[in-house]
Amino acid sequence: MKTENTDSISKQRRWQLKMKNDNRCQQCGEPSGGKAHCPSCSVKSREAVRKRNNFKAKVDGGRGRPQIY
Ligand SMILES: [Zn+2]
Repeated sequence: MKTENTDSISKQRRWQLKMKNDNRCQQCGEPSGGKAHCPSCSVKSREAVRKRNNFKAKVDGGRGRPQIY
């Protein structure tokens, strides 16, 4: 992680790292309990990844999941 050379990182990234050090959400600044994003931003970020990469939600009994009886 680049923290010492603050001249070469963007203002946005610097803010994200500051929020990360304060255990706050990197997207909205709300307390996140040591995680990168707060619960609502986690959902937003997950939905964005699904849309971008055509991933789908985990399904019980699906590929790589325990079988349901
Ligand atoms: Zn958030």
